[in-house]
Amino acid sequence: MKLNEIISENRPTLSFEIFPPKNSGPYESIQPAIAKIAELVPSYMSVTYGAGGGTSSGTVSIAVDIQKAYHVPVLAHLSCINSTREGVHTQLDALREAGIENVLALRGDLAPETKTQKNWHYHYASELVREIREYGGFCVGGACYPEGHTESSTQMEDIAHLKEKVDAGCDFLTTQMFFDNNIYYNYVYKLREAGIQIPVVAGIMPVTNLNQIRRIMALSGTVLPQRFRYILDRFGENSAAMKQAGIAYATEQIIDLFANGVPAVHVYSMNNPSVAQKIQENLSEILK
Ligand code: FAD
Repeated sequence: MKLNEIISENRPTLSFEIFPPKNSGPYESIQPAIAKIAELVPSYMSVTYGAGGGTSSGTVSIAVDIQKAYHVPVLAHLSCINSTREGVHTQLDALREAGIENVLALRGDLAPETKTQKNWHYHYASELVREIREYGGFCVGGACYPEGHTESSTQMEDIAHLKEKVDAGCDFLTTQMFFDNNIYYNYVYKLREAGIQIPVVAGIMPVTNLNQIRRIMALSGTVLPQRFRYILDRFGENSAAMKQAGIAYATEQIIDLFANGVPAVHVYSMNNPSVAQKIQENLSEILK
């Protein structure tokens, strides 16, 4: 099923993210986690491409397995920065052949060696979006950044480039994580002002340990509200308490988003079924 059909149903939905095993580890190492998350019957599951410590090699096969074994719609991430046109087409052929209908088109992060590389096939995600559109048959998503992408000098510049990406053929956007919903609401207002009218799926990260949030802060420059800092200060060293508080904080964010009419929330569940389960349980009546 195409995700734009799910999102346009306009009712509260939750989706969860999976990343392939780290260091090209065996699929079996994450299969039980995938099974437990799929059993929650999320609106869809996304599979990252070389992000979150996972590799890119397993994305297609994991996506195919989820859709075949559990009948959960899948969003396969695809990044282009280190790819050739032929490489992208090989991935698209494999996805199409397996009946995967949704792709999140990404540029990927610039590694130091990529920056000095010559003859790039792709420079920005908008080029990949256009190419997938020309290839045909996929519902195409793009990434967006409510606090601005780290390479953009201003948010308005970032939104102008996002408009180019959307015009290239995105059906929906998914946000980078944020910990203050007002940042999302203000951002979506600015997107609408800029003429971007497609759905903006809200990305929520349940923070369950201190190291995880340190890594996020270093990579994305995400702002932590004072309220959330107090939680980290008080519970950061107690893993069970931090997990409970992190799940409660994310649940509260999601309830507020649903209450304000945001239909689709994507949870960065980091291959952690217990976190996904708990959040889903907390929202059981709301999701009915
Ligand atoms: P782009 O949309 O190309 O934007 C990158 C930067 O270039 C932005 O600053 C933008 O403003 C700027 N820009 C765009 N067009 C132009 C132009 N014409 N001229 C000048 N500047 C321009 N990474 C992975 O490797 N694998 C994943 O699976 C993955 N999943 C993600 C999922 C989500 C929801 C999000 C939010 C991010 C994900 N990422 C993933 C991270 C992403 O690859 C990085 O953030 C990357 O640095 C940017 O990718 P993008 O697709 O947003 O790039």
